[in-house]
Amino acid sequence: MKKKEFKTESKRVLDLMINSIYTNKEIFLRELISNASDAIDKLSFMSLTDKSIKYKKSDMEIRIDRDKDKRTLTISDTGCGMTEEELENNLGVIAESGSLHFKEENDGKKDVNIIGQFGVGFYSAFMVSKKVTVESHSYKNDKSYIWESEGTDGYTISEGTKKDIGTTITLYLKDDTDDIKYSDYLDEYRLRNIIKKYSDYISYPIKMEVTNNRKKEDSDEYEEYTELETLNSMMPLWKKDKKKIKEEDYNNFYSDKFYDYDKPLKVMHFNIEGNVNYTALLYIPSHAPYNYYMKDYEKGLELYTNGVLIMDKASDLLPDYYSFIKGVIDTDDIPLNISRETLQDDKNIKLIAKSIEGKIKKELIDMLNEDRDKYEQFYKAFGMQLKFGIYNDYGINKDKLSDLLMFYSSKEKKNITLKEYTDKLKEEDKNIYYACGESVDKIDMLPQVERVKDKYEVLYLTEYVDEFALKTIGTYNDKTFINVSSDQGDISTEEEKEEIKKENDESKELLDKMKDILKDNVKDVKFTNELKSHPVCLVSEGEVSTSMEKVINAMPTDEKISASEVLKININHKISNKLKELFKTNKEEFEKYTKVIYYEARLIEGLPIDNPTELSNLMCDIMASK
Ligand code: ADP
Repeated sequence: MKKKEFKTESKRVLDLMINSIYTNKEIFLRELISNASDAIDKLSFMSLTDKSIKYKKSDMEIRIDRDKDKRTLTISDTGCGMTEEELENNLGVIAESGSLHFKEENDGKKDVNIIGQFGVGFYSAFMVSKKVTVESHSYKNDKSYIWESEGTDGYTISEGTKKDIGTTITLYLKDDTDDIKYSDYLDEYRLRNIIKKYSDYISYPIKMEVTNNRKKEDSDEYEEYTELETLNSMMPLWKKDKKKIKEEDYNNFYSDKFYDYDKPLKVMHFNIEGNVNYTALLYIPSHAPYNYYMKDYEKGLELYTNGVLIMDKASDLLPDYYSFIKGVIDTDDIPLNISRETLQDDKNIKLIAKSIEGKIKKELIDMLNEDRDKYEQFYKAFGMQLKFGIYNDYGINKDKLSDLLMFYSSKEKKNITLKEYTDKLKEEDKNIYYACGESVDKIDMLPQVERVKDKYEVLYLTEYVDEFALKTIGTYNDKTFINVSSDQGDISTEEEKEEIKKENDESKELLDKMKDILKDNVKDVKFTNELKSHPVCLVSEGEVSTSMEKVINAMPTDEKISASEVLKININHKISNKLKELFKTNKEEFEKYTKVIYYEARLIEGLPIDNPTELSNLMCDIMASK
């Protein structure tokens, strides 16, 4: 029979499995049992709509068989099975699995992590086996096929003889080495433990022939006998008594189900009885999945009714801004044949979604108040999503989310909430000041920030969505958000304002000339007394700030906007006198200075420069003329 080659990427992952130094090899069993359980779920699911499929819950099972002589371990299920084509496609390639992306991004790093980070699925069988066969009979047709492989050199597919629908996977265990006794995986107690540890909640019985002792009739002696025993309790974790669940159980369930092998940040397990009844087991992950901020990330919760999985990603249960939540909802209050389409309109689903949202919010607020470090970690991973939530849908959800925001404070030198900012304000303080930039350090150096931060606390906005979110919120606790780089950010006293106005009126001719030189680039040129040590800055007037200009123009659309900018020159800086002098004595030099000053102001703001060559030439001219 002709051997087929694995696709390159599968080969690499397979290689990794075969040569794995991962110590936790036992997880192969969890993976295979999960696949078996998924396959039964699938059959059950299909039978809801296709009446020709024979499905009886009580007939469904997963079996583990051991053969010590042949050193084989067999995992069989009564699930949907695979056709020849499916065997080829599902086991010949690693398709959607996250492991590959991970591998590509992290090539060269320790291979231990790949297993730690993602479910590795079927291929993990090769961590303990030198050969694997999969015989499968799909519910879709009347044939069965055998897929067989000894590892990276390829696989074969041939016709099989399996009569019942389902899949049987046989593992030919590797030879024992000094370090690893693969034959342990044939040991009854070892298998019992592994199954209990990882797969106890699996909702179908996992049966295995085991040896037990019993007392002989009419005698005090004991005898051994074998029986088929169900090893898992089958009670879904979320249905168990909270008091009897250990943290480890919650974590194992999480990693097994959601392929995240980092502990979740928070577990929420609750039971609601009221207008609608449901049980929820929800998790806040400790980090964003690699594709979280990409289009292909799908939000949603697993939805069960009467213990039957109805949908694996019911997206209507979660608002977009909480799309990071993972978990399970179990309710008897929805129809079994609910579909993605009808789910949206279901009254009870809406009630559940609303109730869940409230619970998540409360949990986050509690975390914010009681465990700041944890909240910081959460915010680092998912804060951006909250800000998008505020900005999206024309700000309809802003009030639900604004309490969850945090920004770096110029005073506290750490993240603070908007409430913490406004709580410190006096009645007469009307504004919440903020500044935008690439990083805290860069913002701290902005000319406009320097002066305001002496008097007021300034929030530093480092993410491009930040200012859009604050503009959407508009006011918080009756205080208005003010960008220190905007004309509203002027915090001078009436006296100071009067003083500088006089100065500007007197220098009108000079300033008009500068404006003339800079043409459409600036709306105005003014002297200012707002800057401390910096010579120049750009200040935006109107709704569009300089940082918003940067963000919008960086987007891949044709729409380009420009903030209406005023060039301000520090009247207390030497450069002001120099300009005045040149204006009188040397118009040519005055023009050069004007241009350089404008370019500088753009550079400080992090704005692009249209003509760097001109800047360079001007600078050299000025330097050479000294
Ligand atoms: P994953 O489970 O993450 O999709 P796997 O490598 O474990 O990745 O499995 C690949 C695919 O093979 C599964 O998605 C499923 O379609 C199919 N499969 C695996 N085991 C079984 C099984 N016991 N019965 C039916 N299909 C299976």
